[in-house]
Amino acid sequence: MHSFTIPFNSPCLTGLESDYIARAMASGHLSGNGPMTARCRSLLETGHGYSNVLLTSSCTDALEMAAILTGIGPGDEVIVPSYTFVSAALAFVRQGAVPVFADSRPDNPCINEEAVGRLITPATRAIVPVHYAGIACDMDAIMNLAARHNLWVIEDAAHAFGARYNGKLLGSIGHFGCFSFHETKIINSGEGGMLTVNNPEFVSRAEVIWEKGTTRCSFRRGETARYEWTDTGSSFLMSDLNAAFLYPQLLEFDNILRKRREQWECYHSLLGPGARKGRYSLPVIPPRSEHNYSVFFLVLPDAGRRNSLMEHLNRKGIQAVSHYLDLAGSPYVRKHISERRQAPTPESIRYENTLLRLPLFHALTLSQVEHICETVNAYYTT
Ligand SMILES: *Cc1c(COP(=O)(O)O)cnc(C)c1O
Repeated sequence: MHSFTIPFNSPCLTGLESDYIARAMASGHLSGNGPMTARCRSLLETGHGYSNVLLTSSCTDALEMAAILTGIGPGDEVIVPSYTFVSAALAFVRQGAVPVFADSRPDNPCINEEAVGRLITPATRAIVPVHYAGIACDMDAIMNLAARHNLWVIEDAAHAFGARYNGKLLGSIGHFGCFSFHETKIINSGEGGMLTVNNPEFVSRAEVIWEKGTTRCSFRRGETARYEWTDTGSSFLMSDLNAAFLYPQLLEFDNILRKRREQWECYHSLLGPGARKGRYSLPVIPPRSEHNYSVFFLVLPDAGRRNSLMEHLNRKGIQAVSHYLDLAGSPYVRKHISERRQAPTPESIRYENTLLRLPLFHALTLSQVEHICETVNAYYTT
């Protein structure tokens, strides 16, 4: 095992988390949907610009809520990227639907909208674009396909808090947006997430599903006489202790983003000469995408060279890591999803084998970024 002087990630901390957790403890409300959740929600809606926010205990939960709300079930197909985390597929598989895996773009790991178009059949019900590294998928093309074929669009914006496409917040363009506040994301509550319900028609049912299929939300507002079981659902809500942890990170978000931008731009400029020599390629940000510096990654020419650079950095105490394994080739899919029609996913497999992520986190210093870049450059010159 390697020991790392620079880890790949360290969870974002503003220094104010314990203070807000102490306030939550003093308030006497620790479970979900309490005063801290309300404060986060109002900041997310009025300060950050998201609509109809429900805090959840993970992005996976938010995706599961979207899968329930859309009524997707057995016999339905859902198009998801092959190069992503399992949750985008799993949330729909749990409802009995069949995931159909689309390949990535050649220039970045986001879903290839042309591949999506080729996979649509009469059984298709939804598209789940994942904004890899906070880089926007081609949402105009995806929303056009969805309108033409009457499909749901559920944005997996787990990486994309604060990122935009054509000026619009990612996660607010499709019918639902699903976000993660897992400790590996740019802001976090340990485990956590949120669902944005972009069509107000679904808000009241979303609240019921969020609160174990009950009328608890409307009952507490005095809108219903009884607190009773009316629908399906689960305990999808975030505890107020986690919301207290999240709140100062929402307050400090501009500073958090500014620091990440400095780190990301430092990598981009110091590693530019190596990219121009053809050693690797740097992230390609489409012109309409305003990303959030969520991940800094290199794409190497082949697996051997990726693994060798990764090993070199690890030996020097720098924890550089690969990312997703192609979902279409996963043991679960091969074993359990036999009826699927699967087009090849060569780009996704290429990113599985050649993408390398470098450390990027709130407490990382610019001199550490410079040191990492020097270590990368030294690998090629010594
Ligand atoms: C992290 C991540 C998730 C899962 O988030 P959780 O909050 O851990 O459930 C889903 N999709 C993508 C793309 C992710 O990176």
